[in-house]
Amino acid sequence: MRFHKTAASAAVILALAATAACGGKEGSAGDKPKDQTDEKALPSYQVAKDVKVDSPVLKKAQKRGKIVIGAKADQPYLGFQDQSTKKYSGFDIEIAKMVAADLGFSAKQIEWKTVDSGARETAVSKGDVDLMIGTYTINPERKKQIDFAGPYFHAGASLLVKKDEKAVKGPETVKGKKVCSIVGSTPLKTIKEPKYGAKVTELSKYSECVSQVLDGQVDALTTDDAILMGYAAQNPGKLKVVGKPFSDEPYGVGLKKGDKALQKAVADALKAHQDNGDYKKAFEATLGKSGSKLKTPPAITEK
Ligand code: GLU
Repeated sequence: MRFHKTAASAAVILALAATAACGGKEGSAGDKPKDQTDEKALPSYQVAKDVKVDSPVLKKAQKRGKIVIGAKADQPYLGFQDQSTKKYSGFDIEIAKMVAADLGFSAKQIEWKTVDSGARETAVSKGDVDLMIGTYTINPERKKQIDFAGPYFHAGASLLVKKDEKAVKGPETVKGKKVCSIVGSTPLKTIKEPKYGAKVTELSKYSECVSQVLDGQVDALTTDDAILMGYAAQNPGKLKVVGKPFSDEPYGVGLKKGDKALQKAVADALKAHQDNGDYKKAFEATLGKSGSKLKTPPAITEK
């Protein structure tokens, strides 16, 4: 697993954080990056007491007094780690907090681990993380190695380009263009399909692809629209999202294969927080601020 950050990606994260902090003084008033989280609007989650679930993973976590959750660190509004405070924020982070609360763990009892896209199945199956919550598409290939609870959100692959880009307008216009995507991610697989004819650059961190778009090394970054809108919102004068979504990416909580009791408990938690309004509140205070629209929360089916 790659827990260390390359200097390049750290620099981009710092740049993103710095732009957010200084309110985008460089651009015109309309170019101001939006705050990632409306802290005051976040729901608070009641921590369940005496949780009894016949789950080996959960029992270990209870003994430890901490639940280990795999997250993303470089996806603004979804899973983002502030490099100065080390604090994680975003919609996926709120999903993690609500699930943890129903399993009996407060936010303080969550041990966060940053896990890149290509390392997720291994992190879950080896037990390096108890749950993986980070823009994690449920698909049959991954289900051979791990289980999911969800989906709790649907995204779709799209394209991020420079604001002044004219040629790349959607997936039908990437022939011969340089397109960056992430090792181990579903949109990478999609964009490599010969019908698109793209010249694909494969990197392991989103922030690295974003900096390549910004400095013109590649023409576009392809991944989920929800992620791309976050980058566009953080770089309003510089980046834009183009094209209609061209895949379905149902997000699930990844967990150890065969731990059926934990899978049910997580699915029940997701459903409960949809029903009590926390989900909507959390969405509006995080991802909704980047321009992503709240769709009807999907039915939790993966039990
Ligand atoms: N949702 C896609 C996936 O699970 C892309 C986003 C990501 O890399 O996390 O592969």
